[in-house]
Amino acid sequence: MRCPFCSADDDKVVDSRPADDAAAVRRRRECLACGKRYTTYERVEELPLVVVKRAGDRVPFDPQKLRAGIEHAAAGSAIDDAAIDALAHEVEEKARAAGPDVRSDLIGLAVLEGLRQLDLVSYMRFASVYKGFDTVDDFERELVELQKSTAPKGRQT
Ligand SMILES: [Zn+2]
Repeated sequence: MRCPFCSADDDKVVDSRPADDAAAVRRRRECLACGKRYTTYERVEELPLVVVKRAGDRVPFDPQKLRAGIEHAAAGSAIDDAAIDALAHEVEEKARAAGPDVRSDLIGLAVLEGLRQLDLVSYMRFASVYKGFDTVDDFERELVELQKSTAPKGRQT
């Protein structure tokens, strides 16, 4: 690390501790050339998430846009802000797990799956404005797949 005082690139770490609620490590360093001390912070680099659209376009994942889409579908329903936040978060987690490149229809289906459990009207509304598919046939085929993959595996009553 280059010393901010004399620009020498030779130092030793004299103290190292968690900072920012353990999201960072704060290090005190001592320059071996001039003896002055300074502080550095080390953090995990946020991994970029790229959404790949049907046509092959690649756009950066936008959590605001995801939330807005869910909010729009849920307008006027019993789904409250906390549930919208929770679903948006859950979908983002799924997308990140599938990343760093994730297909837009995977995100759309994850939203559909979540909405289906929350409110059927919102689910249908999201389904009808859902732009991830080129044709209605594509969409219905995916819905069948979705139903297969989320079908209840035996009831426990
Ligand atoms: Zn120095």
